[in-house]
Amino acid sequence: MVSRLTLLKELAAIIPNDVLVVSSIGNNSGFWGQLTEREANLFHATLGMCTPAAFGLALALPNRRVLALDSDGNLILNLGVLGTVANENPKNLTILVMDNRNYLGSHKDEPGMPTATGGKMNLAEVAKACGIANACTIQDAAGLRAEINKALAGSGAHFICASIEELDNDRPPRTKRLADPRENKYQFAGYIQRTEGVEILGSGLGGG
Ligand SMILES: [Mg+2]
Repeated sequence: MVSRLTLLKELAAIIPNDVLVVSSIGNNSGFWGQLTEREANLFHATLGMCTPAAFGLALALPNRRVLALDSDGNLILNLGVLGTVANENPKNLTILVMDNRNYLGSHKDEPGMPTATGGKMNLAEVAKACGIANACTIQDAAGLRAEINKALAGSGAHFICASIEELDNDRPPRTKRLADPRENKYQFAGYIQRTEGVEILGSGLGGG
């Protein structure tokens, strides 16, 4: 079975720099932050808010491609978003779920506990049943590359469930400090302002 790190390295190698990537809290964000140097990263989306935040960005910026780098535990907290994604069907949204069938599961000393996908739940089938026609499960880096390339070509929302190892024994070296969530949020908003020509951040003093 493939590791989270292997798939994130593959994703880092193929994803264009201007694709907005919203990553869920935990090792998706921690690893992605160590592996990439991109202004288009919004980190630490939690409590079911990774895919919804990416979905909102995709609707607000229809000419910008957006990728939700979600996880099984995080998405399961807010599964209803998949029905909304299916109905709106933004062609610029890709949802990639790192499914390790586990909450936490960061390494052997923190084994976490199983999510529903550790039992009978199949997230790609859930996405299809919600109405997302482009939904699949991938098992390795080649599968990820093929599906990401298809998704970025943009023919409607794509849902990719990546079946990964339960524990992240394979980890990137921690070589830099990552911005804290508030700092990152302002950096990300500033990046969108600059590259999309929209105003998001006001003075905070009222009156525009
Ligand atoms: Mg998980």
